[in-house]
Amino acid sequence: MLIIKPIVAPRFLKLLSKINGFGISGFFFFPFIFINRPEPSVMDNDHRVWRKTVRHESIHWQQCVETLIIGFLLIYGGHYLLLRLNGKDHEAAYRGVVFEREAYTNQWDEIYHKRRVWFAWLACFNDC
Ligand SMILES: [Zn+2]
Repeated sequence: MLIIKPIVAPRFLKLLSKINGFGISGFFFFPFIFINRPEPSVMDNDHRVWRKTVRHESIHWQQCVETLIIGFLLIYGGHYLLLRLNGKDHEAAYRGVVFEREAYTNQWDEIYHKRRVWFAWLACFNDC
């Protein structure tokens, strides 16, 4: 899996956060990854949080390649809708989408991009 070079776009993400209602640190729109600037922090001087976000969005990039983009949109939207119809609120449905489950489960794994197998997200329909 590739780690994609992001576009640093803090104003764009701030606007999306206002529309969405909760903070967005990264956004994926194939083939681009938009991300906030790494913030200097004593707690995160090696930008671990920033790399986590880049990794999360790069996982989506790979999922998009595997599903030929249109499959990503259909599966993502369909799964989200199914979860909403089953009573989940917006955030729970978003977090429950199979593509998000793979990304959130593995975003802190510094070597995930090296060990990830193609279509790894399929395992997340059960548990990943
Ligand atoms: Zn995501």
